Amino acid sequence: MIVLKFGGTSVQNSKWIDNSIDITLEQIDKSPLLVSSAMSGITNGILEAIEFAKVGNYEKSTGICEELRNRHITVCHDFLSEDNLNCAKERIDELFDEFDSLINGITMLKECSPRSMDTLLSFGERLSTILIYYRCLERGINSDLLDSRDFIKTDDNFNSAQIISEECERLIPLFVTPQPGKILISQGFIGSTLDGVTSTLGRGGSDYTATIIGSALNASEVQIWTDVTGIMTSDPRKIDGAITIDHLTYSEAAELAYFGAKVVHPATIQPAVKKSIPVWVRNTGDKYAAGTKITSTTDKIGLKAISGKKNVTVVNITSSKMLNAYGFLRRLFSVFEKYKTPVDLISTSEVSVTITIDDKSYLNEIVQELLELGRVKVEENNSIICLVGHELWKDSIFISRVFATLKDTPIRMISLGSSDTNLSFVVPGNTTEETIQILHDEFFKKV
Ligand code: ADP
Ligand code: ASP
Ligand code: MG
Repeated sequence: MIVLKFGGTSVQNSKWIDNSIDITLEQIDKSPLLVSSAMSGITNGILEAIEFAKVGNYEKSTGICEELRNRHITVCHDFLSEDNLNCAKERIDELFDEFDSLINGITMLKECSPRSMDTLLSFGERLSTILIYYRCLERGINSDLLDSRDFIKTDDNFNSAQIISEECERLIPLFVTPQPGKILISQGFIGSTLDGVTSTLGRGGSDYTATIIGSALNASEVQIWTDVTGIMTSDPRKIDGAITIDHLTYSEAAELAYFGAKVVHPATIQPAVKKSIPVWVRNTGDKYAAGTKITSTTDKIGLKAISGKKNVTVVNITSSKMLNAYGFLRRLFSVFEKYKTPVDLISTSEVSVTITIDDKSYLNEIVQELLELGRVKVEENNSIICLVGHELWKDSIFISRVFATLKDTPIRMISLGSSDTNLSFVVPGNTTEETIQILHDEFFKKV
């Protein structure tokens, strides 16, 4: 079987939905499962409706709901007739009735818990898959609409829920039974807790759903269909001259995703690695272009891509207690562990440690506890620039070229050699694009 995941732009309107169905239909012999995101802009629209409801602005909030509803109903009228049109509209209306009453409740309470927010966010994917399903019926395609919440099981860390792998692996084969000649359709991004409460996997999480299902069913490949031709040397919307990379390893793709390349969700690669399932990233708008293949090995060494992660906070702790002492780093990291705050880059000297964090939710509490260990300095609004490729640290000429190229850029800290695939450093946030462009021109510009 194969899994095809279509992102928001790929299902943005009736024409693109048909395009996505065409791509799946061309591979119907391979027992496809189509995983879809919400139509582009819908998840953001839902968040906007919630924000207005939270301040008690029912009028604005329901105004947005009406717009969201109209977008789906317009698509129904574009490509459905008679029975399919009526059935699809009925199901969409049912969902919007439920959505409206939830928004009504939030407007009265003037608060929305992460749990309620996930229920509301789930409507985006539930709606888009209804459109895809009825369009398949309209086109005479044998298809089934599944509900991912039946088999994507998560913890109750709402808004960014963690997968319960054993449960997913047990349930997916029971609920998802692909067969040649049939298109199965299911929602990305959404799941449910063990007691059945709707949860979500974090923004962009539909990619992750695709590989979780692919892994549980031993898919022969997972295809991520998006709005650019594969993973590129840098974000093509921000960096001039970005080109498609033919082939990446799992670890290269994972580093890029983690350090800012939005094209795949950071957790996507992990389930594929387990079963060595090839992951393709391809362009729905240019379906014959090959895109990027991600597998376990590569024959190419050297730099492949550059990404940037913004809003990074640098925390520096200096303490003479660290000199010749053991146990200091453990005490320091236990503070971050206590506040469930992941640390990205680390650099140490005899008497000081500098680390970066992405999540600032508990920054004040963390700083208060670190002050017991030594002096603490916090610098906000930095960016991590991440150069990804194979065996980068072995090439000293490459490394000297990177820093010679950046002779006028203030570099705050550097991390090299901790993994085979990554050279990362920190620069002030307002120099992010400029820094990437300079490096990209140096290493990828065709002369
Ligand atoms: P989808 O809705 O299909 O999931 P996303 O918007 O999540 O699509 O991801 C695709 C976007 O990722 C592209 O439009 C592009 O701007 C951005 N992007 C960032 N870095 C890269 C990169 N290295 N290669 C390709 N796209 C990238
Ligand atoms: N619809 C969700 C989002 O916009 C999930 C996804 O698109 O992958 O974040
Ligand atoms: Mg995405």
